[in-house]
Amino acid sequence: GEQTTEQTSQTPPADLPEVLRHYIGGQFVDSLDGETFEVLDPVTNRPYIRAASGKPADIDAAVAAAKDAFENGPWPLMLPRERAKVLHRIADIVESRGQDLAQMECFDTGLPITQALGQAKRAAENFRFFADLIVAQHDDAFKVPGRQANYVNRKPIGVAGLITPWNTPFMLESWKLAPAIATGNTVVLKPAEFTPLSASLWPGIFEEAGLPAGVFNLVNGYGEEGYAGDSLVKHPDVPLISFTGESTTGQIIFANAAPQLKGLSMELGGKSPAVIFEDADLETAIDATIFGVFSLNGERCTAGSRILVQRSIYDEFVSRYAAQADRVKVGLPQDEKTEVGALVHPEHFEKVMSYVELGTQEAKLVAGGGRPEQFPEGNFVRPTVFADVSPEARIFQEEIFGPVVAITPFDTEEEALELANNTRYGLAAYIWTNDLKRAHNFSQNVEAGMVWLNSNNVRDLRTPFGGVKASGLGHEGGYRSIDFYTDQQAVHINL
Ligand code: NAD
Repeated sequence: GEQTTEQTSQTPPADLPEVLRHYIGGQFVDSLDGETFEVLDPVTNRPYIRAASGKPADIDAAVAAAKDAFENGPWPLMLPRERAKVLHRIADIVESRGQDLAQMECFDTGLPITQALGQAKRAAENFRFFADLIVAQHDDAFKVPGRQANYVNRKPIGVAGLITPWNTPFMLESWKLAPAIATGNTVVLKPAEFTPLSASLWPGIFEEAGLPAGVFNLVNGYGEEGYAGDSLVKHPDVPLISFTGESTTGQIIFANAAPQLKGLSMELGGKSPAVIFEDADLETAIDATIFGVFSLNGERCTAGSRILVQRSIYDEFVSRYAAQADRVKVGLPQDEKTEVGALVHPEHFEKVMSYVELGTQEAKLVAGGGRPEQFPEGNFVRPTVFADVSPEARIFQEEIFGPVVAITPFDTEEEALELANNTRYGLAAYIWTNDLKRAHNFSQNVEAGMVWLNSNNVRDLRTPFGGVKASGLGHEGGYRSIDFYTDQQAVHINL
């Protein structure tokens, strides 16, 4: 490291309120029982703000406001073009506040500032994209001349419950909010309790853009039984739930939504393989797989956290990869040179560190392996690389969700496929080869919702997003989001 004295804390964003409140029916409100919880700054782990702690009664109030706005408000009946105008204004405002928003996100989550800026841009783009999509929306119509005509009525469903994780909070909220309201629904958002700060910007953005009161409602708080998340899932006036988070939480939500047969969309965990064949462009593959697991602090659902490398290039790959991982700059999230910031929360930090310890028993540590010297406090972890990881190892099988990667050798394409598919997850896969046939055949056979061939994580918003196996249920993205947030009623008439 550099010989300068490192700064070890950050300035909080200016003008923070004392408490992050709920926002219900167009008003900021406290929890009905007055309770709040502490929010920590991941660089010092000191509480820097409190947030209202939502309970079932607060969810009742938010759902009632959303239901009223759905049944009596103008929003669901507005022309798509009129709703799209509001969504474009939202995108404009998000874009114009990108810098402030990224500062907040960076302070609250510990994500590097340059990456938080990218997430703010994506959030604006999500609104723009769904604004355009609903205006261009068309539905099937089929005619049997002289016999029958068939067409589709597409209808918003009602109050959508949106439950989001802490890894890229604002962007993931936008990914659900934009299509949910674009299609004429009203919503109750329950953001992640570790990172409620950026969600507190939505009310101001929506008001300024002219979204009618009650269309968007926000309840902060915990997820488990007796708290906001659980009661949103169980609420009888919330017919659909879009959830992003851990697979085990998804299982609980699935069960809790079952008695009312709710519509569910689940974006869950991953342990995605990056497969490097001997004919790959090694330099590019190394750069991309470094980015693939260490960007966003490794707290990325589609992280390429298992790297499978063909034996003939294995030793060279491992030594070059480890050297490059050592050069990834860990630093304060607000520093523009930082590539890995602070993990979101001390609980998550402990989880990641426990995997680092486990890895040193299960495999061979070739880079990183603990806390960087210059940060005796806070949730900092050095980019950590394990080699010779066996497929039975827990660090091969379990999602770590931090800057930790497992490298495993393979001999044949068949073995690579078997290793790639050998986990409960199936979110993404990354394949590096210059053999065209192999690239397409391997993609077809790998158990993953999304495959990147000789490329890295850049998506087209029109494509499906979602995982298979324990990584998810259903797909969002493009018209699939429109399908999830609307009922499609077929109408048949004899001619
Ligand atoms: P988490 O499951 O712990 O929490 C997610 C949200 O669910 C939080 O808002 C939480 O309060 C709420 N929650 C918890 N228990 C609940 C319950 N019983 N009922 C209702 N709500 C409940 O996940 P996390 O730790 O915040 O996020 C990390 C996880 O999210 C990782 O597994 C990651 O892979 C996954 N993720 C997936 C995607 C994707 O698109 N597939 C994207 C980002 C993150």
